[in-house]
Formats: sequence, structure tokens, C-alpha cells
Amino acid sequence: MRHFAVVGSGPAGFYTAEALEKAYGEQGRIDILDRYPVPYGLIRFGVAPDHQSLKAVSKRYDKVAESAGVDFIGNVCVGRDVSVAELLDFYDAVILAIGAPHDRRLGIPGEDLPGVFGSAQFVGWYNGHPDFAELDPPLSGTHAAVIGNGNVALDCARILSKTAREFEGSDIVGHALEALDQSAIRTITILGRRGPHQIAMTPKELGELGHLEAASPIVDIADFPPLEADQALEPGQRKSITILREFAATPPDPAKPKRMVFDFFAKPLSIEGDGKAERIIVERTELDEKGAARGTGETYGVPASLVISAIGYWTPQIEGVPYDERGTKFVNEGGRISDRLYAVGWARRGPTGTIGTNRPDGYEVADLIAAAMPAGSSGERAGAEGLKRLLERRGVIATDYDDWRKIEQTETGRARPGSPREKFVRHQEWLQTIGR
Ligand code: NAP
Repeated sequence: MRHFAVVGSGPAGFYTAEALEKAYGEQGRIDILDRYPVPYGLIRFGVAPDHQSLKAVSKRYDKVAESAGVDFIGNVCVGRDVSVAELLDFYDAVILAIGAPHDRRLGIPGEDLPGVFGSAQFVGWYNGHPDFAELDPPLSGTHAAVIGNGNVALDCARILSKTAREFEGSDIVGHALEALDQSAIRTITILGRRGPHQIAMTPKELGELGHLEAASPIVDIADFPPLEADQALEPGQRKSITILREFAATPPDPAKPKRMVFDFFAKPLSIEGDGKAERIIVERTELDEKGAARGTGETYGVPASLVISAIGYWTPQIEGVPYDERGTKFVNEGGRISDRLYAVGWARRGPTGTIGTNRPDGYEVADLIAAAMPAGSSGERAGAEGLKRLLERRGVIATDYDDWRKIEQTETGRARPGSPREKFVRHQEWLQTIGR
């Protein structure tokens, strides 16, 4: 029997577990660990609450968790409750699938002013992440700004613009729904340090902005290169740019009170305000020969009492695991960190790619593992039994999938009409629900 520990129960963790289960069948036992008693990681805490079709992928993960060779061990934080070295004693291989939950910093003056948040914080707030339940982002001003031109920036801007009716059927948490419903924000500026051709926004996500109930997207056609230049773009990107051009050609709908303004070639220099964020000072940029943003020296202020920077994430370090400081992930070669230690997902590749990208990623690493320790060869490690004994000695309350099912049922039972669930947003509430 081979024992595997997959650390992290987001998409990368689940696809890897699925692949290992297929590779080893009855000769493998796979434990998926998570620091929280609730699984799914990014699916629960990252994917936007109004994108329920994306969240539905968790049904597939349930099947993996319910299969005979796979167990979920929740409420265990690797690096705090148990070390990687200890896991390597109990398991034949350890696969780190811990994602990249922390915000990259802007590195500009004023970014620590009240009113400035990273997207992980803001997204965590509206998605019920326990670390950000108390965030209380200021929504009483009329202007907000989102920094970055990726899909996360779009998520943040869209959530800020939506009406309560548009959240019907979503699982946005009650505290965020209430606060957003009272929001005074009327202008949301999306700042991109480069131009329309350089956006990292995908067509489906961008297209949604054309159908918002209360907000019009505003794009300046003067920011675009000549139309012919679009031909050189890869098809997906061309589609996104076509949508942006449509926005530019459409005057704002006077019936919609909110504006979502795309400000391209705008690089944040500092955030200013009297004890809190009031404006971002940006520098107009142009593209240099390599396509990077080069400042032109022209600066101006963009009013914003709420600033969200959505410029990427980093993976936390874990003791004993080599860390790639520049790349913000673990040092690895094709997923292999060192003997019997692997990384998958954002912890392997860095914070890019969609949920689906993690499937081939997980399967590739499972193949590597299977090649290093073929099915049929046997290990002599203690697996979950050893781990659970250690956790018990340390007073760590480990939870299992049945516990999660109880939490899930309770969350479903307390949902608003039409909503799939009302999430608990505090660690203690999860544990109370399962009587711990
Ligand atoms: P991303 O796609 O890498 O975009 C990051 C953005 O931040 C880029 O526009 C980048 O501009 C900008 N940026 C970086 N540093 C900056 C700085 N110092 N100042 C100003 N701007 C800066 O990252 P993401 O939006 O966090 O998304 C992460 C991954 O999740 C992506 O692969 C994304 O597609 C995926 N995702 C998918 C969905 C979905 O499918 N619905 C939703 C959310 C996220 P430059 O290009 O100039 O560097």
C-alpha cells in the first residue's frame, strides 16, 4: 500500500487526488488535508459568488472525496500543526497544493492607508473567508478603483457594481450583500498599466459587463491601436478586444447610474489621502519596444476612497521547502520539489491559469509520482493512522468529510431564498456546527 498526502483541497489538490486514485486504485490511499474544516479552497473562497456554474465543479470533487481510496482531513494546518518533514515520515509522497492565497504588494507609497485592499482580502470578504469577515471595506464614497487588468480585477469591479437583484441565486455572504446594497459607489475605475491589447481578461468575463443592470462600461477608443492590429492577436484575445471596442462604441446607458471606467496606460505611483485613501496618483504610460509600460512623466489623480489592487498572488513559505522568491512559488522541476515532495497548481506554476489548467497539472505530477513508485510496489509508512495519532497528541481537532457534509447541510438550510447556501464565515461556527 502507498500513502499519499495532498496538502490543500482546492482544484489542484482534488485533480491530483483523482489522478493518484486512478493510477494506484486499491493500492493507494490518498488523504487530502486542508487548514479549514471546509474543502474546495479557491472554489469556495476565490471563484466569484455570481459564477455558480464555475463553482459547480465541486460536485466532481465530491465524487473524488467519496471514493474508497480518498479521505479528507480538515482543520489541519501544515507548517503549524504538522511539518512537511513529519508528513514525509507518514506518507510515501507529499504533494503541496496550497495555492497562492496572499496578495502581491504594489510597492508604492500609501498602499497601507485605510481603504486600500488586496483582491484576496476583498474577494475573501464577499466569499466568506474567515480571515476577512471583518474587513468592512468603505463603501460610503462615490468612487472606487481597481488596479490590474486581469480576471480578478473584473470580478472585483463587477461585484462592486451589482445590484441586490443581480446577486439572486449567488452565494455571496449576507454581510457583503447587505453592505453592497447600501453602497454609494457610482464610479469604478479599472486601472491598467498597459493598453487594451495587453489585458489579461477573457471574453466571457469581459462580455458580462455589457449586461449589468446598473452599470455601463466606459472605454476610450483613443486608447486602441488601429483596427488592423487586432488581426495579429491570438483568437481569444482578439475576441476580448472586440468586446472592448464594442464598449467604446456604445454610449453609457443614461438609465444606469453606475460607470465602470477603463483607464488604460495608467500606472499607479502612489495612493494619497488624509488618513485614508482618497485618490490614486497615476502616471500616463506608453509601450516601450518590448511591450512594457514606460512612464511618460504626465501624472494625474483618480479619486477613490476604496482601492483594490488585483495584481497577482503569492504562495506562503513552509519550513523546509525551497522557495522561489521571485516567482512566488516553490522551487520545483515539473512539479518535483525533492525526493517524495511535489507541488501542483499555483504553488507549482505561480498564480496564473483557470480552474481547468489544474487538471493536466495534477495528472502530470501524479504520473511523475507513479513513475518514481510504480503501483504494485509497496511502502511501509503509517499514512493517516500515524498522522492522526500525532494530531491527537498535539490536541489538533482533525475533521473529516462527514463533518463537512454536516456543515454543508447546515449552510444549505440557512440559505436565503434562491441561494445555494449561506456560508459560515468564522472558524468557530464551523466547529460548533459539528459539535467540536
Ligand atoms: P493576472 O491575469 O496575472 O492579471 C494581473 C494583472 O495585474 C495584469 O493586468 C498585470 O498587468 C497587472 N499588474 C501586475 N503588477 C502590476 C502593478 N505593479 N501595477 C499595475 N498593474 C499590475 O492575474 P489575476 O487577475 O490575479 O488572475 C489570476 C489567474 O486566475 C488568471 O489566470 C485568471 O485568468 C484566473 N481567473 C480566472 C477567472 C475566470 O475564469 N472567471 C476569474 C478570476 C481569475 P501586466 O500585464 O502589465 O503585468
